[in-house]
Amino acid sequence: MTEETIFSKIIRQEIPTPLLYQDDLVSAFRDIAPRVDSHILIVPNKLIPTINDVSQEDELTLGRMITVAKKLAKEEGIDESGYRLIINCNSDGGQEVYHIHMHLLGGQPLGAMLSV
Ligand code: 5GP
Repeated sequence: MTEETIFSKIIRQEIPTPLLYQDDLVSAFRDIAPRVDSHILIVPNKLIPTINDVSQEDELTLGRMITVAKKLAKEEGIDESGYRLIINCNSDGGQEVYHIHMHLLGGQPLGAMLSV
């Protein structure tokens, strides 16, 4: 069985995290421990644990995550300066919360793509 994470409670607003965006497919809110000036998480409302678990029926949701990222980047005023979108998968990917989420990171130069 797939276990819910804290993100499901945020999506249902059972814990008080302000939502920056919500529709029938996705929700977005600020990361609790921002790594950069602007750090937003965009999540499917449906619990999908990892990218390994996505199916064809999720394609609309995954596409919506990108269009919402674009909209929020503009609202944050970082669309022109630039930003990075990241989805981590499993332990080597650095995934901590097993409910797919896209990190929207920006507001400052982000440097090299990754450090290992
Ligand atoms: P991951 O490493 O799984 O890709 O990223 C999980 C992210 O979720 C981390 O950046 C972490 O700070 C964030 N996070 C974990 N718990 C909470 C929470 O309760 N509220 C919010 N807003 N972010 C959280």
